[in-house]
Amino acid sequence: MKRDYYDVLGVRRDADAGEIKKAFRKLARECHPDVNQHDSEAEARFKEAAEAYEVLSDADSRAAYDHYGFDGLRGRQMTDFEHVGFGDLFNIFFGGGMFDSVLRDAGGMWGAATGSAPAPRGDDVEARLELTFAEAVFGVTREVEVKADATCETCSGSGAKTGTGREQCPQCHGSGRMREVSSLGGFGQFIRTSTCTVCRGQGTIVKEPCETCLGTGRVRQTRVVPVDVPAGIADGQRLRLAGDGGAGSRGGRPGDLYVSIAVEAHDHFRRDGDDLIYRLDVTMVEATLGTTAYVPALDGDIEVQLKPGTQPGEVKSYRSRGVPVLQGYGRGDLRVVVNVLVPRQLTEEQSELLEQFSALSGEATYEPDQSFLDKVRAVFRQ
Ligand SMILES: [Zn+2]
Ligand SMILES: [Zn+2]
Repeated sequence: MKRDYYDVLGVRRDADAGEIKKAFRKLARECHPDVNQHDSEAEARFKEAAEAYEVLSDADSRAAYDHYGFDGLRGRQMTDFEHVGFGDLFNIFFGGGMFDSVLRDAGGMWGAATGSAPAPRGDDVEARLELTFAEAVFGVTREVEVKADATCETCSGSGAKTGTGREQCPQCHGSGRMREVSSLGGFGQFIRTSTCTVCRGQGTIVKEPCETCLGTGRVRQTRVVPVDVPAGIADGQRLRLAGDGGAGSRGGRPGDLYVSIAVEAHDHFRRDGDDLIYRLDVTMVEATLGTTAYVPALDGDIEVQLKPGTQPGEVKSYRSRGVPVLQGYGRGDLRVVVNVLVPRQLTEEQSELLEQFSALSGEATYEPDQSFLDKVRAVFRQ
């Protein structure tokens, strides 16, 4: 049982053309396949609405329907919506993009796409920068080589040979868009618009191309870009330099430059977030008798006093001697971890002396360090 066309569109019987158009447009939006991909109900609803709109948007068909109902339409050329796929149906109406086409039959109800395409933005480019440990900690200004599009100097980016200009595109007559007309049964004519392939939407073409850039307005160039690396940057982070990428064409914005940071490992230092960890190697004898050691902190030596009986894994902390907080205030801490070196090779004489030392040692000589594992755990906070 077919539903009344006015009911389908949800309009009164005396609705004017504008109201009918508006009602169909609303239904089409609701049923669009981008929103209702596998919804057969949406497909059926749209087909029903399309048929109703086909009839009611045409004055003759509408009059015949008003007087005789469905019988009045017999013999008229009607679109066979049943046998058109859902996606195809939308393509017929809306040219693939819902807002990219004009439905001429409805007096341009979708709004004609006018004006040329915006000037294309330049490409984003990538570069890599290797830093020493200290450069990453304190920041540095370095240079990277970047291969990217630059505005052609010969034609100042216009793409036209010196002394010549640009002229209207003969294909689209300056609109930057091409129109393709198709008709569908009794429904009327449809215009599908797309970007002009001759001028790529610009609306103009060069009469004679610039010899340097062959009309593109851009040339591939290797540039040296200074990069201010902020203090505290870490391995694997990426810096974005806005506008330092490839040039845009014909007034388009330039792209961005992304610099990936790689930081060399350090023999003695490790990063733990903003904290620095330093491994202080001392001999078994130094740890036993006590000693004065120097830690080459990144901003000057630190004198470290080790008392007699210093245990492996002992940690000494120095506030604000670590890594500056990236784009923030203050610095992390420096933690010096004692590593006791145990002899690997001994002469006979050394062995004998140690044997003698052992014979003279008692329980009081070695007092186990109960907190050893806790210390190890405390070295790395993160
Ligand atoms: Zn064109
Ligand atoms: Zn040029």
